[in-house]
Amino acid sequence: MGIPRALLYYEYYPLWKTFFEELGAEVVLSAKTNKKIIESGLTYCVNEACLPVKIFHGAVSDLIGKVDCVFLPRIISVAKREYICPKFSGLPDMIRSSLPNLPPVIDTEIKLRLSDKTLKEAFIYTGKFITDNIAKIIKAYHKALRAHGDFVAKTQKGVLPAQIFDGYRPPQPKGLKIAVVGHIYNLFDSYANNNLFKRLYQNDISVITPETLQTKIIDESADKLNKKLFWSFARKIMGAVIHFTQTKDIDGVMYIMSFGCGIDSFIADLCERKLKRANIPFYLLVIDEHSGEAGLDTRIEAFVDMLKRRKTNDSDLSAHG
Ligand code: SF4
Repeated sequence: MGIPRALLYYEYYPLWKTFFEELGAEVVLSAKTNKKIIESGLTYCVNEACLPVKIFHGAVSDLIGKVDCVFLPRIISVAKREYICPKFSGLPDMIRSSLPNLPPVIDTEIKLRLSDKTLKEAFIYTGKFITDNIAKIIKAYHKALRAHGDFVAKTQKGVLPAQIFDGYRPPQPKGLKIAVVGHIYNLFDSYANNNLFKRLYQNDISVITPETLQTKIIDESADKLNKKLFWSFARKIMGAVIHFTQTKDIDGVMYIMSFGCGIDSFIADLCERKLKRANIPFYLLVIDEHSGEAGLDTRIEAFVDMLKRRKTNDSDLSAHG
């Protein structure tokens, strides 16, 4: 079973992997994002698409010839009364129309907007591609849910997906502490963001992300908005940022945005306004397929230097205050 290492892989890989393995399938992941995957993405995907969707195309192309079928769920909504970016629902069609020699595609529809009970049906539908044994499928489904719950619990205890997926070791908490926010695939695809976490850790910077916060905290903070945000992942980012404006226990916020993403443009602007009012520095890092390592380094360094100067000035003021 091929799974592209892109987009919601960073959110749901433990769930999908456990489910398929429990049914006896061997899970094959595409290679980590690299130059070749980006180039394939550029070849097969429409030019106007965002970088994560291009990477997804490259990741699927990397699986061709290596797997018997590929799992490309058509994800419409992942929570009640919410949606995610419409690009996700069109992905199986985009891939089918642009990639030659595709193996069979499992394009299960995930639509939890009206009821999360449909999730079980979606898994039964998916499992039937492998076995007719419904009891086995349901058992695998419950095991997969537990694996997902463990993954979420681990991140909410502060273990970032960057540590789980890339083995990065965070520094001792003695330097700056910043929050990095954005869509999960921009945060944790270390090739797409030019090893952002590694760079921050090398500068002794502790990092928190929306994934490290309890769901209850995110929900309560997001509910403070005048109007409910109906994009699930945007709501999570916004809830986290509102929480940071209240706790003020971070030195700054960095937003990783995909070039050309409408949702990111809107939410990043909203975040910036909230943080400005709370006097918390904000930095918007826009990534695309041309983001060069040197340019990114300079921009991160400039932001970090500014935060360091700010912290030193603040402590000088309180020392003299
Ligand atoms: S939310 Fe933005 S970055 Fe994510 S898939 Fe949609 S357009 Fe691309």
